Amino acid sequence: MKKSFFLFVPIIFISAISAIMSACKQQPAVNPQSIAKAEFGKLPDGRLADLYTLTNKNGLVMKVTNFGCTVTALSVPDKNGILADIVLGFNDLQGYLKATAYFGAIIGRYGNRIAKGLFKIDGMTYTLAKNNGPNTLHGGITGFDKVIWEATEVNDSTGVGLRLHYLSKNGEEGFPGNLDVTVTYMLTNANEFRIGYEATTDKATPLNLTQHSYFNLAGAGNGDVLGHQVIIYAQRYTVVDSTLIPTGELRDVKGTPFDFTQTQTIGAKINELGGKPVGYDHNYVLNSGGTKLTLAVSVIEPVSGRMMDVYTDQPGVQFYTGNFLDGTITGKEGKVYNQYYGFCLETQKFPDSPNQPTFPNSILKPGETYKSTTIYKFYHQ
Ligand code: BGC
Repeated sequence: MKKSFFLFVPIIFISAISAIMSACKQQPAVNPQSIAKAEFGKLPDGRLADLYTLTNKNGLVMKVTNFGCTVTALSVPDKNGILADIVLGFNDLQGYLKATAYFGAIIGRYGNRIAKGLFKIDGMTYTLAKNNGPNTLHGGITGFDKVIWEATEVNDSTGVGLRLHYLSKNGEEGFPGNLDVTVTYMLTNANEFRIGYEATTDKATPLNLTQHSYFNLAGAGNGDVLGHQVIIYAQRYTVVDSTLIPTGELRDVKGTPFDFTQTQTIGAKINELGGKPVGYDHNYVLNSGGTKLTLAVSVIEPVSGRMMDVYTDQPGVQFYTGNFLDGTITGKEGKVYNQYYGFCLETQKFPDSPNQPTFPNSILKPGETYKSTTIYKFYHQ
């Protein structure tokens, strides 16, 4: 064989490699961040709800409907890079219209309970719609989880998201004042679900906005969450009565099943709690005091290796372990949601603060702007 052939072959080989390398350089990122909008369903009054699919640069996907600002799906990777949808929810709008479990929604005006649906501001008594025995829960009969929000897409260098706006009219569910609320959801390229809350009012009103996603880091519908390992950076919790209204006492968690200051699985001491139904449904008084954005809770699901950190600038977090789920709800992919199939970490002021003089102030006044941030950050072992 000619000598020139032996020179020619390596030259072709080198040129082919360099062509492939430069083609690779020109390839767009494997997952360009994106937002896609589709119709989600029709409300009884004929209005349409939309569903937005947000994908970040790392391939995490969050689906949000403007009905209730509801996160319907959130897919994050496990230790092998396998994505799973880790929030409970429904396949379609009909599920959300009927549901009373608040899957994935924004809660307002007042997250958690207001005793007997009553409070006073400046000597005037206000009466709210009651929807939870003698009390008002999560804003009343038609809370912020059951209304259509106006959505604007956000696509910037930090990630993809939605700015969701709602005007809650004076007298809605009994609350005073026209309340203008904007909730910004971002799925960031740092793998965070970041929530920004902003609100103004024209009359003094109680306000306690929160997010009500039920997480199962092993995948929604794939069993209970009792094996999840949790740390809550809180030395005290608010003691409640039999209707889940705080008594006013802030009790030390030390030596009780409420102690998550060191890693403890959700199931480790759950049966020692008593109460009906048995489970965590308590507001933890965060050590941070709610002054600045601080790590509040860390969770690990040891089998999948998925981990979540919760940061907030709020003084409390309601830790709820899906105690009221009883197998009567069938969610996404036809999966039945039994007791303890999801847990919520609802960052907030304390329950019933408007009636508890020693609790954090929850009254927003005209001229003030309510601003708050909570972040759920995802990673894996
Ligand atoms: C409350 C529970 C309530 C649940 C409704 C939680 O925030 O603390 O008591 O049953 O929401 O899904």
